[in-house]
Parts: sequence; structure tokens; C-alpha cells
Amino acid sequence: MSDCIFCKIIEGEIPSEKVYEDEEIVAFEDIDPRAPVHVLIVPREHIPTLNDTEPAQDGLLGRMVLVAMRIARENDVADSGYRLLINCNKDGGQEVFHLHLHVIGGRYLGPMVQRA
Ligand code: AMP
Ligand code: ZN
Repeated sequence: MSDCIFCKIIEGEIPSEKVYEDEEIVAFEDIDPRAPVHVLIVPREHIPTLNDTEPAQDGLLGRMVLVAMRIARENDVADSGYRLLINCNKDGGQEVFHLHLHVIGGRYLGPMVQRA
């Protein structure tokens, strides 16, 4: 999609620090890391939100999680712990509308969500 920042990263039109690539998935360092490890895992296909995935894309979603586990292992946070996060739409805090899975770790992350 022409005006999507993550599509541009996937195509190499915008620089990024890529840490993983295969035929359907790309992973790169978050530009504004919230923890020592903060990597974004994205499908090459432009899918705006988690809601836009189909049951037939269960394999893609599963492989994104497997890539996340691999990145956690490679960054030595598999045992210390890490968090996988998909923000969806406004209340979920989604800012970039190209599906992405955050892998965050390398420090104690605190409670899952701040109390209201
Ligand atoms: P979300 O709020 O789940 O949509 O998260 C979007 C994430 O994309 C944020 O953590 C941003 O720091 C990150 N981000 C935005 N622009 C870039 C970029 N050019 N390269 C890497 N990460 C980015
Ligand atoms: Zn996109």
C-alpha cells in the first residue's frame, strides 16, 4: 500500500534495522524502543489490523508467533521473559495500520495494562 510506512520499510524505501526476513514475514527494530528488546514482526502483505485477518491466515499468525519466539531466543530473553503484543484499533493504541506483533523484553515490564 503506497502510503503505509511499514510497506515502505518492507520494500526498503524507508531504512530500518531488519532482524529477520522470509517470503511472508519481516521483522525489524522498533524506532522508539520501550525496552532493551523491541522488535516488530509484520506480514509482507498489507493487512491493516488484526480484525482484517481471515481464519485461513491462521498459519501466518502462527508463524509470526514462531518468529517472535526465535527473536526472543536470539536476544537471550526467552528465559528471563518477554511480552508479545498486538494493538488493534483506537482503544488498543494502534498507531500504524499495518498488522504488527511487538516483541518486548530485556527488563521487567510491569503490569500488563495500567489500571484506569
Ligand atoms: P502500534 O502503536 O502498535 O501501532 O505501534 C507502532 C510502532 O511502530 C511504535 O512502537 C513505533 O515506535 C513504531 N514505528 C513507527 N515508525 C517506525 C519506523 N519508521 N521504524 C520502526 N518502527 C517504527
Ligand atoms: Zn502496509
